[in-house]
Amino acid sequence: MTDHVIAAPPVPVVPVEGGGTFPVRRILCVGRNYWAHRREMGAGEDDRDPPFFFAKPADAVVPPGDDPAYPQATANLHHEIELVVALGAGGRNLAVAEALGLIYGYAVGVDLTRRDLQNAAKDKGYPWDSSKGFDQSAPISAIRPWSGAPPQGRIALSVNGDVRQDGVVADMIWNVAEIVAEASKLWTLAPGDLIYTGTPEGVGPLKPGDRVEGEVEGVGRLAFTVR
Ligand code: MN
Repeated sequence: MTDHVIAAPPVPVVPVEGGGTFPVRRILCVGRNYWAHRREMGAGEDDRDPPFFFAKPADAVVPPGDDPAYPQATANLHHEIELVVALGAGGRNLAVAEALGLIYGYAVGVDLTRRDLQNAAKDKGYPWDSSKGFDQSAPISAIRPWSGAPPQGRIALSVNGDVRQDGVVADMIWNVAEIVAEASKLWTLAPGDLIYTGTPEGVGPLKPGDRVEGEVEGVGRLAFTVR
């Protein structure tokens, strides 16, 4: 029995390879973490700003097998394929050398973005919540449990069989350990946190009916159809 005056919302979960589910506490995302993507988004060669964080709500996850709906309030939905870090332990103010010890596993994710709303927000200096943290904005594969050195290989996404994004995780500006350490300077990290680590170049629009397939070498694959 609890004192809740309404039913407690369900805890979003992501399946784990080999069995079980990973309960999601929150979703952090890294922006501008690959140089080639920064350039395609309009950054100049003299851009020295470090990557940064934004967030999505935990219930934005779209587990494998589910198909996200084309969201309302946009005419320019974009795909961003990303390596996702799943934390099995927490901490704050971590050193880079400690950061990998928090990781439970990795998944393949897509940071769906209402690019038209994001561009409008950038123009006005408004927050990104409505362009990034909307319903069903975080498709994700099953989580692969992992220990040791993080994935470094190919990260790719195709739409209807055409390769749109084809990069290498090793090209990230902040690597996985640096991302976790940086995040821990801003928030107390905890088990259940997911971190979408940024996208390589080749982002582009999706429309209803598009079949999206993504992979990160050694981590897994994800596939969904935009409803
Ligand atoms: Mn992204």
